[in-house]
Amino acid sequence: MKKAGKGISQFCGIICYCIRTLWGVSPKYFVIRLVLVCFSVVVPFAVIILTRTVINVLVGSNESDTAIQLFFMLSVLLLVLNILNKAVETTNTYYEGLQRDKMDTVTKHRIMKKAAELDLSFFDSSAFYNEVNDADRNSPLITFTAFQAMDLIRYFAQFTIAFVCLFQSHPMMPFIFVLSVVPCTIVQIKQVETIYGFQRQYMSEERKMQYASELLLSREFAKDVRIYNMFPFISRKFLDIWNTLFAKKRKISLWYTKLLLLLSALPELTAAFFLFLLGLSVIQGGRTIGDFSFLQGIMAQTLSGLYMVISSYAQLADGKMRIQNYRKFLGLKSKIRADGTLELKESSFMVEFKNVSFRYGSGQPWILKNVSFSFHSSQNVALVGTNGSGKTTIVKLLLRFYDPEEGQIFMGGRDIREYTLESVRRHFSAVFQDYSNYAFTVRESVSLSDASRAGEEEQVIGALKNSGADSFTARFPKKLDTYLTRRYDESGQELSGGQWQKIAIARAFFREADIYILDEPSAALDAQSEDEVFRTFQELYTGKGAVLISHRLSNIHLSDLILVLEQGVLVEAGRHEELMKVKGIYAHMYHLQAEKYNCL
Ligand code: ADP
Repeated sequence: MKKAGKGISQFCGIICYCIRTLWGVSPKYFVIRLVLVCFSVVVPFAVIILTRTVINVLVGSNESDTAIQLFFMLSVLLLVLNILNKAVETTNTYYEGLQRDKMDTVTKHRIMKKAAELDLSFFDSSAFYNEVNDADRNSPLITFTAFQAMDLIRYFAQFTIAFVCLFQSHPMMPFIFVLSVVPCTIVQIKQVETIYGFQRQYMSEERKMQYASELLLSREFAKDVRIYNMFPFISRKFLDIWNTLFAKKRKISLWYTKLLLLLSALPELTAAFFLFLLGLSVIQGGRTIGDFSFLQGIMAQTLSGLYMVISSYAQLADGKMRIQNYRKFLGLKSKIRADGTLELKESSFMVEFKNVSFRYGSGQPWILKNVSFSFHSSQNVALVGTNGSGKTTIVKLLLRFYDPEEGQIFMGGRDIREYTLESVRRHFSAVFQDYSNYAFTVRESVSLSDASRAGEEEQVIGALKNSGADSFTARFPKKLDTYLTRRYDESGQELSGGQWQKIAIARAFFREADIYILDEPSAALDAQSEDEVFRTFQELYTGKGAVLISHRLSNIHLSDLILVLEQGVLVEAGRHEELMKVKGIYAHMYHLQAEKYNCL
């Protein structure tokens, strides 16, 4: 009982949420459709009542002028009602299309916005990835479910009116109708639950199928697919899963279909029985032919209303989980506290890491252990260490993608958590080793780092020049307006790894920041290009701060402060000359590289 009560309140909650969402997306469309739907519920009943009157007039007519006039007027009214009904249906379809389009876009946009707002840490978890994918894939179904909620209300109203009409003429009749539909309803709801349970049980299998199709459809794997002739293998994987799932699904559907075929005869038998009784009472003179037609129409409305309520309910029950998952996704909260209110306005400030320790989630290994250092925002700092020693993690903490688990980071003498996120990040520009490629034009790809200045053509060209990307972009036929992909148009250009990297560096240079972060920005560049990037940066951006990460120590040996990390511990810190004197890890690495280059 308690469970049923909870189920009903959950269900009502879902309906309210759907209605609120439809209203929120467009109050105008909502009101228009509500009026049209009310109309479309009432009009069929008006037609049934009028038809009864017409039949009664015809049966009792005595060829008098008044009877003919009445018949004519009623026929015209019936015609007007029928035309109106059709007009309402067509207009409703038009507004339904508009409302659906808007709802689809708003739903998708809300998911996009939420995903963009959440902390980077969410993207570390595969469970979150699944949630994002689920929310994105199911977004059109959210609209579908919201429409089902509206339909449920509509058919419920239709059923209620028919129920009351039947009740007035024969109090037991509507209850018997409802009872006759109960077995069908129970089976249909069970069917939806079983299919939903089936889908959940085999979700990972469906994801495997999705992955198989992505492998063949995406550009990323296109080369491997061809060179290794991977199609037969992937296709077999795809079809094997499908065959297994199909056989199981078919078995479930067949069983329920047979049961429904049997049970759906019950309401029809009930209707036939009542019609027979009605017919008898017409023959015996208890009721008129008009009454017969009226009750026949009302019975049809009761049954169709009931069927539609059940089917909308069943579909809504199916969509319930989707709506719940969608709401859960939109309700996710960032772990980074964004309640800092201060603005970091000055462009010159001290940055200080004080006893910072960090790990990617509790239970995970410590990545940074008690790290302390400080530098001025106008200085060049280099982070040195083997792969996995925690260099990029320091950068991520600096940009507040994550907060330290222990210790504090200060900027301008205050804990960075006291500032708004935006005001901290505004001071930085960064290019990471796993930089992103965008299928936009050259101009857009560069100015993405500060889209408000996209119109500053000279600055875009300057950034391209500083990163060395102008050597190829200047040759593009549409120059800055060339798409960096052929996806949209044939004049687009496909870039090599090194060229993409130069575009990413140009993007970082375009932003007017106080501290530039270059995290191994040159992995895909040849030695000469890499040397040029660092040299240009040091020449052009004097007075600006930098955090540089590079395995080639010749690029960073001029830095004001070199921090050497080993397994998350800061083991050495100082200028190049100081560290060379210490003869520690840095000096050892430097000598190794110098010997290597001398050998070449
Ligand atoms: P570096 O930049 O020095 O190569 P990173 O700071 O990128 O090292 O990584 C340090 C360690 O943290 C590595 O062992 C890496 O596997 C781990 N790590 C990096 N990012 C994540 C993450 N998002 N989730 C869990 N571990 C991570």
